[in-house]
Order: sequence, then C-alpha cells, then structure tokens
Amino acid sequence: MTDATTNLLDFDLEALSAYCERLGEKRFRAVQLFRWIHQRGARDFDQMSDLAKSLRAKLAGCATIRPLPVISEHISADGTVKWLFDVGAGNAVESVFIPEDDRGTLCVSSQAGCAVGCRFCSTGHQGFSRNLSTGEILAQLWHAEHALRERLKTNGERVITNVVMMGMGEPLQNYGALVPALRVMLDDHGYGLSRRRVTVSTSGVVPFMERLREDLPVALAVSLHAPDDALRDPLVPLNRKYPLAELLAACKGYLERAPRDFITFEYCMLDGVNDGDEQARALLALVGPKGPAGRVPCKFNLIPFNPFPASGLKRSSNERVQAFAKILIEGGIVTTVRKTRGDDIDAACGQLAGEVQDRTRAAERMTRAPVQVIRPVRPA
Ligand code: SAH
Ligand code: SF4
Repeated sequence: MTDATTNLLDFDLEALSAYCERLGEKRFRAVQLFRWIHQRGARDFDQMSDLAKSLRAKLAGCATIRPLPVISEHISADGTVKWLFDVGAGNAVESVFIPEDDRGTLCVSSQAGCAVGCRFCSTGHQGFSRNLSTGEILAQLWHAEHALRERLKTNGERVITNVVMMGMGEPLQNYGALVPALRVMLDDHGYGLSRRRVTVSTSGVVPFMERLREDLPVALAVSLHAPDDALRDPLVPLNRKYPLAELLAACKGYLERAPRDFITFEYCMLDGVNDGDEQARALLALVGPKGPAGRVPCKFNLIPFNPFPASGLKRSSNERVQAFAKILIEGGIVTTVRKTRGDDIDAACGQLAGEVQDRTRAAERMTRAPVQVIRPVRPA
C-alpha cells in the first residue's frame, strides 16, 4: 500500500518552511520541526513537545516522517554496519557505516541500480531501476544516525561525521533529488556536516559537475579507472559521452569552488587491465602540466577490485597495487590504497548489490558484449 501523505523527509529546510506556510503556520515553526526530525530522530508528532497541539494534530492528518523499511542489518567484526532497505517493487538499496578512530562515515545510495553500467561494478551489472527520492536518500542517513546513537548510547552525540555518496547509483544522474538531500546534510538545523565532510562520487557526468559547482560545491571524488579514452570507454561507458579531456577540464573548473583544493580520483585496480606501470605513468602525464587540462591538483585512491563472478575480472595483487602506488607517489601525487572493510558482510565498494529489478536488461547486454573490449595491457 502506498502512503499518500507528504513525507517530511523529502524536504530541505526551505521546502519545509514553505510547507508550514501552506498549512497556515509561521515559517520558523519549520526549524523546530526540522530539528525534531533530523537531530532528534523523531517519527511521531506527539513527541514534539514544543509544538502547539493544534499544529501536531494538523501535521498528523497530512504528513508523515517515513523511513525506509529495513530488510536486514549486518554488523562486521570490524564494526562496519550494512543495512539493506526496501524501496518497493522488489528493489532494495544498501548503506554502509564505516567507523574509524577519528570519524564515522556513512556510504549512501542514490539510485536503485545504475544506468552507467561500469564493467567492474555489480550495481552496474544489475541495470537501472529508478532514482531514489530525496526522502529515500535521507532516510538512509536518518535511520543510520539514530539507530547508531541508540545502539552506542551516545546521549544524543552525533555518530556520523562524514557522508560519501558512494553506494549504489550515480548521484549526478539523480541531481534533482540529490541536491535537497545534500542541503539537509549540511544544514546546521539538520546534520550540520561541513562541505568538506560530504563527498559526491561520480563516474563523470560533466554537465552536472558544473551545476554542482554552482549550486552546492561539496567535496568531489571522480571515478577515473583508466588513463586514456581507449581503455576508459569500455570500463566506464559514460566516457564515450564525456571523454577524459572534458572530464579533467570539469575537475579543474570544480576546484575553483570546491571545499578542498584537490580532486580525489578513484581507481579500481583490475588485474592485467589497468594496473600496469605504463598506466601509472600515463596517469601522471594525464594530470600533469602537459595533460589535456593542464595540471589537475589531485589525490589518488586505489581501490582493490572486489570481484563478483559475472564480471570476469580479477583483483590486482597487493604487490601490483603497491608498485602502481609507488610510481604515482614518486611522481608527486598523494596516493592511498583503500582498506577493505566489512569483508565478512560483503560491505565493500561495488558489492553493494542490493537487489533491483533490472528495467534495462543490463546484465544480458553485458554478457552479449564482446569480452575483448577490455584490452590486456600486460603481456600474458
Ligand atoms: N556512481 C558513482 C558512485 C558509486 S560507486 C561512481 O561511480 O563514482 C563508488 C565507487 O566504487 C566508485 O569509485 C566505483 O568505481 C567503485 N567500484 C564499483 N564497483 C567496484 C568493485 N567491484 N570493486 C571496487 N570498487 C568498485
Ligand atoms: Fe554506476 Fe558508479 Fe557502478 Fe559505474 S561504478 S555502474 S557509475 S554505481
């Protein structure tokens, strides 16, 4: 059964203020309401003791604070927590909480499935089902934050200090829902995160990188995965539309407004595909002064590939990853290798499979596609 009432999780503070006005209330009531929802995790209007009873009754008649049903929750030995949320019609999305000494990061999904169809990504292999709404994006954060506070008995202290839009989906292909969700994350009356602590990860949707730069320049991570178009085209099919020269120019433009003075390039290490010394050197050239956009201040984050059977790809060896990193570091680029977390609960990047009804038949398309599109770059 679908719920016809307005979901208040769909609103940023501005939209909630407009909503209160439409109910004949003063706009500032929205601040109180917003704080109850996002800072205190309230679901029930009766809890909201500083709102007039008449307003509470009015809200109860036309609005809800509608979380996503939790299908499952897994807690890893290393403290990583993964939730699977039901988004209806047989679709599910995942969120992952990664605790570290100095921060707590939540990895959030933006779509059920993904239309980009990257070769090495299990979400991409499932095809695209639909965009999540603002409320569905925020419901992941709302649930995780308040469930963790309760579990860790933090006395109202915030648990999630960072959000990365690195779950399922391409956030910049769901821009309309993404931006209000980011606003709530940043709002002092919402989650109060700084722009440096909210990261949008993109496979390179250039026009929307340009819009995000104008609208709400949070930290940006760009999934690069290859140093040239010939290799990037088959790995990240969106590259055919926005090739590397355009992507790097957009990165450079973004930096003019970004909260950090570098772009993070993610690079998934695929055995024999993109992990050779010559690719590392080509990357240095790509982001260096003689590259297509001139020097692009950046850091590299090498992600060991998380294999899944349908991909037909293998993870690079640790030695290979280290040798690749060394070349980048010696070329003057700060490079980190992503630790795999939550291995025992399949919570790593690219394994956030959830379950989506493939409306695009991506899996079939991918099995039919010629395997040779991925060039071997090292002699066998
Ligand atoms: N669509 C966005 C954000 C979600 S994917 C993007 O592509 O950037 C988040 C990160 O996980 C991306 O860098 C992506 O390349 C990486 N990733 C996807 N599948 C992976 C896999 N199987 N192993 C390792 N990293 C993977
Ligand atoms: Fe989509 Fe990102 Fe996966 Fe590519 S890596 S298919 S853009 S979720």
